[in-house]
Amino acid sequence: MTVDALAGAAYIVAALLFILSLAGLSRHESARAGVVYGISGMAIALVATVALTVADAWTTGAFLGLGLLVAAVVIGAAIGLWRARSVEMTGMPELIALLHSFVGLAAVLVGWNGYLAHPEIAPALFGIHNAEVFIGVFIGGVTFTGSIVAYLKLSAKMSSKPLMLPGKNVLNIGALVAFVVLTVWFVNDQQLGLLVGVTVLAFALGWHLVASIGGGDMPVVVSMLNSYSGWAAAAAGFLLNNDLLIVTGALVGSSGAYLSYVMCTAMNRSFLSVIAGGFGIVAPSGSDEEYGEHREITAEGAAEMLTAAKTVVITPGYGMAVAQAQYPVADLVRRLRERGVDVRFGIHPVAGRLPGHMNVLLAEAKVPYDIVLSMDEINDDLAATSVVLVIGANDTVNPAAAEDPSSPIAGMPVLKVWEAENVIVFKRSMAAGYAGVQNPLFFRDNASMLFGDAKQKVEDIIAAL
Ligand code: NDP
Repeated sequence: MTVDALAGAAYIVAALLFILSLAGLSRHESARAGVVYGISGMAIALVATVALTVADAWTTGAFLGLGLLVAAVVIGAAIGLWRARSVEMTGMPELIALLHSFVGLAAVLVGWNGYLAHPEIAPALFGIHNAEVFIGVFIGGVTFTGSIVAYLKLSAKMSSKPLMLPGKNVLNIGALVAFVVLTVWFVNDQQLGLLVGVTVLAFALGWHLVASIGGGDMPVVVSMLNSYSGWAAAAAGFLLNNDLLIVTGALVGSSGAYLSYVMCTAMNRSFLSVIAGGFGIVAPSGSDEEYGEHREITAEGAAEMLTAAKTVVITPGYGMAVAQAQYPVADLVRRLRERGVDVRFGIHPVAGRLPGHMNVLLAEAKVPYDIVLSMDEINDDLAATSVVLVIGANDTVNPAAAEDPSSPIAGMPVLKVWEAENVIVFKRSMAAGYAGVQNPLFFRDNASMLFGDAKQKVEDIIAAL
C-alpha cells in the first residue's frame, strides 16, 4: 500500500474520531471520552501528514518542506505547551479567541500561496481554484481580525462598548457586496491588486463586525468566530486538496454555527440583531440612589441562614471563575448536603466568559452532575427555594432584563433568583457586570450583599458552619 493510500485511510479514521469527539463533548458524562477521541484523531492526522511530507521529500529529494514542517511543529508545540500550562482558567476565553485568529491567518496565507505558487490546474477547474483562493482569503481575513478584536475585548485591553460608526449596517452589507463583485472579477482576471484588495477588505470587515458588537452579545460573537474559523479551515482544505481539513473545517464550522444558534436562543436574540445592534449600547442605567439602600450580610450570618434552609440553589457566574471559588463551593455543597439541605446549581447558558464555563469549573471541582441544572430546568423552582447563593454572577441574574423594557439587556432570559425567599450575592463591590448594566437585584428586600473575594467568603462560611 502506498503512503498516500495509508494517509487517506488515516484521515478517514481521524475524521470519524472527530465526529465521536463532538458527540462525546455534548454530554457531561461522556465529555472526557470525547476529549480522548479528539486527541487521538488529531494525533493520527498529524502522523499521517508528517508521513506524507516525509514520503514526498524521499521521492523528490526536496527536504526543505520537511525541514519547515519540523521547525513549525517544534515552535508551535513549544509555544502551545507553554501557554496551555501558564493560562489561568479566566484567561481561557481570550486564548481561544487568539487561537481562532491563527486559523484565520493560516487560511489567508494558504490562499495567498494558492495564488503565488501557480499550481498546475486543469483549465476547466481554473475558475474554481481562483474562487477558492478568494473565498478562503476573505473568510480567513474576517476571522483573523475579528478574533483579534474579540481577544482584545475579552482580555479588557479594549473597551467592551460597541463601536458605533455611522451607517454601520450599510458598511457591512457594502463590504459583502464588494466581496461578491471582486470575486467575479478575480475569477475572470487574476490581478494581484484584487487579492490585495479583498485581503484589506476582509481585515477591515472582521475588525468592524466584532468591534461594533456590544458587551452582552460577546457570547454569540465567540461562537460565531469559532464557526468562521471552521469555514476558514475548510476553505484552506479545498486549496490544499486535503480531505481531512475540509471535513474537520466543516465539523467546526457547523458545530460553531449551531452553538451560535443556541447562544442566540439563550439571549433571546436573533442572529441578525446581534450583528446589527448590541446589548450594552445605552449607558449603564441609573445610579444606586434610584434603587434605594442595599443590605449587607456577614459570612456568619450567611452560615446561619444556610443552616436553617431546606433548599439552596447556587447560581455561579464569572466572579466564581475569577476567584477560583469552585473548590470551596464544592466543599460547602458537600457539607450542606450532609446536613440534609437540598442543594442544586442553576447554570445560565452565558454565565462566565465561555460557553459551558461554569460546567467546566464545577466538573473540575467534582460537583455531582445530577445537581447541576440548566436555567430552564431550575427557573420554576426558584420561588420555592429558601436561599439562593449568587456567586460572582451579575448580568445573568439581573431582574431588569425581565422587568424593565428600557434596560439595555431587556428580553434576555435570566435566572429569576429574586423570587426566592432569600438571596445572598457574593461580589467585591456594587460594580456592574460585563454588560455594564446596574442590577436592581442588589436593592431588593430579600437580597443581601456578601462583599469580598468569593473564594475567601465561601471559606469563611465553611469555617462558620
Ligand atoms: P458578570 O460578568 O455579569 O458579573 C460577574 C460579577 O462577578 C461582577 O459583577 C464582579 O463584581 C464579580 N466578581 C468578579 N471577581 C470576583 C471575585 N474575585 N469575587 C467575587 N465576585 C467577583 O457575570 P455573569 O456570569 O453573570 O454574566 C456573564 C456576562 O458575560 C454576560 O453579560 C455575558 O453576555 C457575557 N459573556 C459571556 C460569554 C460566554 O460565552 N459565557 C462570552 C463573553 C461575554 P465585582 O467586581 O463587584 O466583584
